[in-house]
Amino acid sequence: MDAGYTADVAKITSRGAILLGKYVVCDGFDDNREVGVITHIHKDHIGYLDRCISNYYHVLCTPPTREMLICLYGEWLERRRNLIPLPFNTTYTYKEEQITLYPTEHILGSCQALVIDEFGNSKTEGILPVKYNKTIVKYKIKNNKIVEPMVRMVLG
Ligand SMILES: [Zn+2]
Repeated sequence: MDAGYTADVAKITSRGAILLGKYVVCDGFDDNREVGVITHIHKDHIGYLDRCISNYYHVLCTPPTREMLICLYGEWLERRRNLIPLPFNTTYTYKEEQITLYPTEHILGSCQALVIDEFGNSKTEGILPVKYNKTIVKYKIKNNKIVEPMVRMVLG
C-alpha cells in the first residue's frame, strides 16, 4: 500500500462494540461479526470475552494480553485455540481483510487494531498512545504501517 491512505474512525454499535471492516469487532460482541479483537485487559474491554471465545473462530490479542487473560480467567483459556496471540506489527489475514495490532503506551500488552479491507480501505480504533492523551481517529498508512495520526479528537 502506498502513502496517502488514511484510516477512518470505526463504527460503534449501541452496545459499545467497535466494528472494523466487514468481519472484526473490537472489545465487544456483535452477532454479525466473525473475528474478535481484545485490545487490552482493562475490565471495560473484556466484558464480552466469554461470548467472543464461544462464538468466534478467531479472537485476536497480543501475546502479553493473552497471558494475562489466562492468569485472570484460568488455564482453560490456554487450551482455547481460537484465542490467538498476534504479535505487534504482524498482519493476520482473515478472508479478504488484513488485521494488524499496533503497540500503544496504555498498559502492558495494549494494542490498537487496524483493519484493511478488500478495497484497501482502513479502519482503526483502540486505546491511544498516552503521549497524545487524545483519541486518534484517522491515520496515514504507509507500507501497511501507521505512520502518523491525521486527525485527533480530545476525549471528554
Ligand atoms: Zn484501559
